[in-house]
Amino acid sequence: MNLILLGPPGAGKGTQAKILEQGHGLKQLSTGDMLRAAKDAGTEIGLKAKAVMDRGELVSDDIVIGIVSERLDMPDVQKGVIFDGFPRTTAQAAALDKLLASKGQKINAVIEMKVDDEALVKRITGRFTCAKCGTGYHEEFAKPKRLGVCDKCGSTEFTRRPDDNEKTVRDRLQVYNKQTAPLVDYYRGQGNLHVIDGMADIADVTREMEAVLRQLKA
Ligand code: ADP
Ligand code: ADP
Ligand code: ZN
Repeated sequence: MNLILLGPPGAGKGTQAKILEQGHGLKQLSTGDMLRAAKDAGTEIGLKAKAVMDRGELVSDDIVIGIVSERLDMPDVQKGVIFDGFPRTTAQAAALDKLLASKGQKINAVIEMKVDDEALVKRITGRFTCAKCGTGYHEEFAKPKRLGVCDKCGSTEFTRRPDDNEKTVRDRLQVYNKQTAPLVDYYRGQGNLHVIDGMADIADVTREMEAVLRQLKA
């Protein structure tokens, strides 16, 4: 089964993808995480992507489709993928349909997560991540159980993304509305779209997602 979590920056895609990975044998595929890893490793792709990402614009379709295509050939994603932050343009969506079709697969559901702009800004500006295991947190909405210690791995080092500031977030929201929001109609046209209320608490959003998955399996 292949799912897409579609929603603006800060909607909770990464948070929910990591929760859903657990019970369903699916693998999160976050193009943002992959691009940040390339940036940190200083690869050619990383170097090309860095300035674009720091400005909150989109990395070119060719680069992103290339890394997704390589990733989908790996053995750990063959049972199914939760796409997080991909596709972001209609060209990427069309390329993904083609890639999956060549493997006899398809997108089974697209879950659109709706969250108000002001809530998104709050979520993004309070977001931080465990430097060791990548678990996501929020200063107010998802604090570690022990202050300054990662729940999952015990690390005391955390990072913040350079693009998680108010100015860049507002630019990223505009980019989303212009380049990514049209995908809602694309997937509605395919009959795959499920819309959920992303304003609810993390656990309630998970429950809504689980309900969509049950419906698919029924
Ligand atoms: P995305 O992957 O869509 O950019 P994240 O999953 O990283 O979003 O969530 C953005 C921030 O908001 C994180 O700090 C996360 O802990 C927090 N968050 C996620 N879901 C919720 C929610 N339902 N309510 C409040 N805060 C949330
Ligand atoms: P968020 O969910 O907070 O918007 P991501 O981690 O998904 O953040 O993306 C961070 C940045 O990485 C984006 O602003 C963009 O520059 C780049 N990026 C990630 N995924 C894509 C994609 N599918 N196409 C183009 N650029 C992407
Ligand atoms: Zn950790």
